[in-house]
Amino acid sequence: MRRRARPAAGICHASLYRFDQPEESYWEATGGPRPVGCDPLGRDVACEVAIIGGGYTGLSAALHLTRDHGLSAVVLEAGHIGWGASGRNGGFVCLGGLKLGYAQVLNAFGRKALRTLFDQQKGAIALVAELADIYRIDMKRSGDGEYVLAHNRTARRQLAREAAWVVEHLGERWQMLAREEVEETVCRANGMYGALFVPHGFGIHPLRYVRGLARAAIEEGARIHQHSRVAAWQRCDDGFLLSTPGGTVRARRLIIATNGFYEEGLHPKLDGTLLPALSSIIVTRPLSPAEREAQGWTKPALVADSRTLLFYTRLLPDGRFLFGSRGGVSSTPDAAARQVEWMKGRLGERFPAWKDVGIDHAWRGLVCLARDRTAHLAALDDDGRIVTALGYHGNGVAMGTFLGQAAADLVATGTTRRPIAGFMRCPPPRFALPAFRLPMLRAAYLAHGMRDEWLP
Ligand SMILES: Cc1cc2nc3c(=O)[nH]c(=O)nc-3n(C[C@H](O)[C@H](O)[C@H](O)COP(=O)(O)OP(=O)(O)OC[C@H]3O[C@@H](n4cnc5c(N)ncnc54)[C@H](O)[C@@H]3O)c2cc1C
Repeated sequence: MRRRARPAAGICHASLYRFDQPEESYWEATGGPRPVGCDPLGRDVACEVAIIGGGYTGLSAALHLTRDHGLSAVVLEAGHIGWGASGRNGGFVCLGGLKLGYAQVLNAFGRKALRTLFDQQKGAIALVAELADIYRIDMKRSGDGEYVLAHNRTARRQLAREAAWVVEHLGERWQMLAREEVEETVCRANGMYGALFVPHGFGIHPLRYVRGLARAAIEEGARIHQHSRVAAWQRCDDGFLLSTPGGTVRARRLIIATNGFYEEGLHPKLDGTLLPALSSIIVTRPLSPAEREAQGWTKPALVADSRTLLFYTRLLPDGRFLFGSRGGVSSTPDAAARQVEWMKGRLGERFPAWKDVGIDHAWRGLVCLARDRTAHLAALDDDGRIVTALGYHGNGVAMGTFLGQAAADLVATGTTRRPIAGFMRCPPPRFALPAFRLPMLRAAYLAHGMRDEWLP
């Protein structure tokens, strides 16, 4: 019997790993009823597959394992369901899962990989819609497609080139809008030079969606235990033994679905491979129709911008405005408070009519980056009994759901029902100097920030 060391804490400030405390947010305030039947583990149990992490990835895996493979599944979540990024994100269900651009994928991995990736991304969006439909998840869908605002003239030219590129390489028509067209149909924003409309995706209430996934998984027979952090696990003859404060789970197979909240020590092949990064959101009080009109913002569009350290914004169904950005380079609570002030300033610069509008909610969470800038789905041992899916680069609502399904397939059958881009099918590579991941991120943010703001 081999024993894995007790996981140490994650690499960011300890305040980000308070699993017993919900991150107060607009979503928590409006998330509807919590799923029932997710009590903390209180005894020793056995199952076919244990899943560490109760976000989109882990819950989608549990749902598909039970429904499609007839395997018993137990989800162990350290906080409450949706405590992680799945209950805190911007609710953009869009093409994502990696930071590599399509042209980089084509150049590095070839045409087939590009096509597989794109089909996978579209399939991921469709899967979210399909699950919501089948399980009647009231996820407050709003908006259609995504607008990428050009933040300067160079970015506008790049977006126009991208529109031409996707016609040639993906057979897609993405419309390039002039500044005036954006102002007429989407919003008026300072520092905006036109936009690319990507006709894929929609907005949701992310916590309602993750709660709905939990209910669906339970309906299909999965068992879910929140407030049941896996403090240690060990290999034993017939599989694995996972220890939580209230009991143990004996499982023949294991899925690790912790994404940005991964704690070093959980698996040697994941240690030193993931870079958690902060993302932050502020939400205004409800805006009156006249206030919304003052910035030309009349429909629930999903709007991001072309910066590397991008801003993402939505008008929510109840008239509030959601404004999100990368969350800064320090993860202390003091830095979080400073970040909120900084974001209020940026919101006012872009949308001056809302400069003094009250902010009702502010929160933050961790996204998950990898050295090769892509998500990963991989077996971590030779016999394929430990599988992981993670590394969505701040874009995992759809891709987390999709790779959760794929992780279920992989651990159950050794293959996946739908093709997964080959470059994602391996464990994330280790950083050269893992101890310096956060300082490296700071340096990268500095460089990206300067390029975003100061290059014409
Ligand atoms: C502020 C913010 C905004 C974002 N906006 C968007 C967006 O608009 N669109 C988009 O596509 N993506 C967005 N993302 C990213 C997206 O939320 C994530 O990619 C996605 O939620 C990942 O889901 P997951 O299930 O893999 O991980 P998570 O939802 O983070 O779940 C991992 C879970 O693992 C649990 N865990 C960790 N260690 C243990 C342990 N030892 N034992 C038991 N449980 C453990 C954690 O408690 C956590 O709940 C955003 C993220 C943030 C933080």
